[in-house]
Order: sequence, then C-alpha cells, then structure tokens
Amino acid sequence: MMNLSITSRRHPTSAQMIVFPVFEGAPGLTRQAKRADTSVGGRLKRLLADEKLTGKAGEAAVLHTEGAMAAKKLLLLGVGTAPLTADSARTFAANAVIEARKAKCRTVAVVLPSGLPSKLAPSIIEAMVVGAKLADYRFLGHKGAKAVKDEEDKTVTDFAIELADDPGESGTKALASGVSIADAINNARDWTNLRSNVCTPVYMSNLATWIAMVSKGKIVAHVYGRQDMEGSGLNGVLAVAKGSAQDPKMVRLTYKPRAKTKAKLVLVGKGVTHDAGGYCIKPADSMLEMHMDMAGSAAVFAAMSAIAALDLPVEVHGLVFLAENMISGDAMHNGDVLTMYDGTTVEVGNTDAEGRLGLADLLAYAAKNIPDATCVVDIATLTGACVVALGMKMAGFMSTDDGLAERLVAAGAAGGEKHHRLPLECEYDDLLKSKVADVKNVGGRWGGAITAALFLKRFVGSAPWAHVDIAGPAIPAGTSPTQQQEGASGFGVYTLVNLARSYTK
Ligand SMILES: [Zn+2]
Repeated sequence: MMNLSITSRRHPTSAQMIVFPVFEGAPGLTRQAKRADTSVGGRLKRLLADEKLTGKAGEAAVLHTEGAMAAKKLLLLGVGTAPLTADSARTFAANAVIEARKAKCRTVAVVLPSGLPSKLAPSIIEAMVVGAKLADYRFLGHKGAKAVKDEEDKTVTDFAIELADDPGESGTKALASGVSIADAINNARDWTNLRSNVCTPVYMSNLATWIAMVSKGKIVAHVYGRQDMEGSGLNGVLAVAKGSAQDPKMVRLTYKPRAKTKAKLVLVGKGVTHDAGGYCIKPADSMLEMHMDMAGSAAVFAAMSAIAALDLPVEVHGLVFLAENMISGDAMHNGDVLTMYDGTTVEVGNTDAEGRLGLADLLAYAAKNIPDATCVVDIATLTGACVVALGMKMAGFMSTDDGLAERLVAAGAAGGEKHHRLPLECEYDDLLKSKVADVKNVGGRWGGAITAALFLKRFVGSAPWAHVDIAGPAIPAGTSPTQQQEGASGFGVYTLVNLARSYTK
C-alpha cells in the first residue's frame, strides 16, 4: 500500500528521495531545488549542466547527498513544458515512482514549484496521486508467496506532494479522490489480468457482491443466473455461454446517492471471461489474450466502486453480462437464429462476434427497465477493426448524441484516456441484412467497428447512447510511465468516473 500525503514547506520531509521538476524551455533549478543545491555544495547545479537536462518529460538525473541532507538522493526530473497540467503532472508523478524504484528509495517527496494556480491545484494533485499509484502497480495475482514478497519489497510506500501554498480542504479532497480512482483502476487491471480458469463468470459475479459489500450499502448488487436469464429471455447472453461449462451470469449494480440525484447513468459492460471464438475459432496465439475480453465489465465494476467512494450525486446502474465463448456439442452454430430479449431475431453470421449479442440484450434490457436514463454508455473490447483503425492508444466510439459525445471525449481527456469518434454511417446498415432473420450479427470485413455499433444501435432505447470500443487501449502493446507491465491498462475506469462527475456540475 502506498501512503499518499500533501506536505507543506514548514514541515520538511523525511523522504529518502526528493524530486525536483525541470521544465522544458527553462531547464534551470526551481527555487526549492536551489535551496537544496546550497546544502549539497552546488552539486545539483553541476549535475543539471553535466547531464545537459532539457526538461523533456521523463529525463532524469540522480544525485547522492552523501549525508549532506536527511534525504539520501535528489532527483532532477523532466516535466515537459510549463505550466504543469493534469496530463504532465500524472506522467511526472509516474516517472518519479519509476526513478525511485530504480534508485531503491521507497519514500518519495515531490516538491512542486510555487505559483501553482489554486484553481488547478486539485486536478493536479489528483493526477499526481493517480500517476504515482498506476506506475507502482504490478500484477501479482498468479505469483507464489516468495515472488509476491520480493515484488512488494520494491514498492514505493510513501509518496508526498510538497506544495508551496497550502491547498486547504480541496487539496485533501483531491488526494482522496485520486486514491479512490487509482485503486479502482488497479483493481480493474487485476481482474482483467487474471486468467480465465480463475476469473470465471462466477468469480466476476462474486466480485460484484464484494463491491456492494465494501460500498457499505451505497451499491446494491443483483446477480442473475442461467434460469433467471432464461425466464426473462436474455437469449443473446445465453447463446454466447452455450458452449461453456461455466454458468453465465448477469449482474446489475445500482448506486443511489444519498444526496439529490442530478442524472441517471446506465453503464453496460462486456464480460466475456474467455473468448475462444466459438466455432469461428480463433488462431491459438490470438486466444492467449482472451482472458481480457471482460475488460469492459471490469471497467464498469471499478468505475462504480469509485463513483460510490466519491459519493457523486448521480444515480448509476451498471449492467454486465458474464460468459465464456467456447466450443462444445451445445455451442451455438454458425447460421443459428436467436430471438433476443426485445424479440429481434438475429442470424449468427459469425460466432466470434459474440460480444455484441450479450451487449444487445443488455441495451434492450436498459431501454425497457431504465427508460428514463440520462444516458446509456456501453464499453467493450469489441472489434479488431477498431484497433486496426485507431491503434492501441485510444478508444473508438460512436454516439447517437453530440452532447454525450462531447462529454465523453472531455471525460476521457481529463483522465488521460483518448477517445476518437467514429461515424454511425447508416449506409452500412445494409451490410447487416439477413435473408432469414431481422438482422445479422456481422457486416463483413470492411468498417467492422462501425457495423458492430450499427448492430447495437438497433437495441438502444430513446436515451442518448454511446458505444465505446476499447479493444486497443484496454490491452496496450508495450509500456508507458503509468503502465509498467504489459497486460491490462484499466482503460475506461477514469473516463466513466469523469463522465459521472460531468453530470454533477
Ligand atoms: Zn469474439
């Protein structure tokens, strides 16, 4: 566990490593760094010159104080151009943790320059907390006790943000928000990284119950099993699960704020705990990542836990289906026709386009049971086509509502999660035509992300709707300052929390 705190200059830090920012374009020592430089006999200034630091984000140089100060090491760390923004602050804090771990310092204090605009201070504090905690995350869910202990001995235990001006109550609140959000994102990463033999539909539905429990009554969880779903006709979900020995589940999480509700959000998540593709079986290598095909459901669970922790005055309903897409004598066939929750008949053109079958049922469920929603947002690792179009660093999304689209982009940007809007091109609707049923679940090779969204759109009610395809950024290739390990990123959690926040203003 990382302890996070805000300190003021009057209470000097006892951290092993003190971090001073260096800004691009003006790569000198900050006033606070100059004071430390005096204590170490000018060595910090010489280090800056020797290393030719330009202030580029991530550039780092470490100085051993050799007893001249209480801290063991001083770090000069590039931020990028001034002024500090939420984005640069998040990356800066993440890089501070990375460098501290390299230097084997477990307690860190980051000294920010004075003159931080007080209006920005809360967002910068929150961003730094999130950056620090995300950078320190390692997935240990499948490691043995010794490996876990070794890895835990490397974590940063204390991360202090030293500010020139006291940020007061808003600073403390921002710190707490950052902790709740980062914990939620790291939980989502844990759940998504867990392999399919552990993270089954039942495991995920138990998590939903756990989330409700730790929310101290703010969230209520309802878990529905196969029989319940048969009774209500959630045949899209059931078809996905037909070839699996694992029982499918549907989860409904409800968060009702104690304060007066300002909006009613519905968040829908795809929870395919393993996707072998069904009879349209995937190549062996492509299956290796398919334990992460439930990243959307993890994002919904985690976002709701953070929204409850922040006591946001909005009502939120989380709808998630949990199933495995496998092969057996019972599995759905290519060409099967399903009668969905809302009565629409769907020809299964491809059994690997299973996510949209489950999502369609939940969207129709939302339209019928929560018809007065302010907005409905579904989030899913849905199409490879979206990854081909936009790569691993951003989500693609489609929306029936410009206002919601704008909110979503802004909500993502505030948390460092990029979203790019793709069109709901109605001319492509013809690609989904079926000769035997109302619609087909695939539209062919071209524009696959768009035809997936057009399929879902048929099941949406009158509430503004957005479909977020996170097939790329949920499982990014390679690492970044906040993503030190390959695997799940927790993408979408921060965006959904910020989206809920946007309705509180
Ligand atoms: Zn699939």
